[in-house]
Amino acid sequence: MEGFDAELWAIELALGETVKRRERLQEQGVKTVAVFSNSQATIRRTAQREPGPGHRLARRIHWRGWALVAHGIATEIHWVPGHSSITGNEEADRHANLARDASRSMAIHRPYTSASNRARQIADGRSAAKAKWEANKCGKHFRYRLKGKTGTKRPVLMTSMKSLATRFHRLKCGHASTGVYLKRFGHQEDDKCWWCSGGRGSTAAQTLENLFRHCSRWRAQQKTLWKAVGKATGWKAGRCRHVQISELISIEQCDQAVMDFLAAADIGKFPPKWTTVWRKR
Ligand SMILES: [Zn+2]
Repeated sequence: MEGFDAELWAIELALGETVKRRERLQEQGVKTVAVFSNSQATIRRTAQREPGPGHRLARRIHWRGWALVAHGIATEIHWVPGHSSITGNEEADRHANLARDASRSMAIHRPYTSASNRARQIADGRSAAKAKWEANKCGKHFRYRLKGKTGTKRPVLMTSMKSLATRFHRLKCGHASTGVYLKRFGHQEDDKCWWCSGGRGSTAAQTLENLFRHCSRWRAQQKTLWKAVGKATGWKAGRCRHVQISELISIEQCDQAVMDFLAAADIGKFPPKWTTVWRKR
């Protein structure tokens, strides 16, 4: 039983005892019965009969209240501060502790005794499942980080500026803003290169191949890139000429060269403002 249910149950029990003794109370001229509780939530609950936690007990408390009214006895439920040396409250606390200690060995486990108990069981189960999942899947010190070498695989990328790394990963998975990509998703009328428009190669589609090797706007940067790639991998010029750009990006040794190239050239960025290539909205 939940603490909330126990408080309601206690109020219901007190009123039940009063109902049993109603004849005698009437004879003695008792007009009002007062029950004291230190739980404000419970008192609020007794004021209403809508479905919710402790619904069954709240309804019974209402019945008892009306039964007493029928005998000319009014019922009041009052709040008292708990654990502040109020005699009745301390006495109730002592009895509650005695009952708890006595029943510990013979506790009856019934699943879902009430709506609030069910809510707590669900919450407990959920946090236990979360802890189990985290223990299995996440690192010990950083709970938000999944286990594995994800964070240490490519040190150059992990330590670079976020905007650069973003562009790198977009190039890697084919979602960078190149002419071909923008045309494919309807952002642009054609897939022509906007960097070298009017120049040589401007009629070619703006692919990764084009940007990394042929685009005349980034000639100097391309030269530096391929030199750095040759140095990092030990490849001859012929190998450099024939390697696929997607393969180049996937090779860890070339990370630094590619990142330097991206930092120097605006490849993979949206077209600058001076172009009028956007389709009307
Ligand atoms: Zn170009």
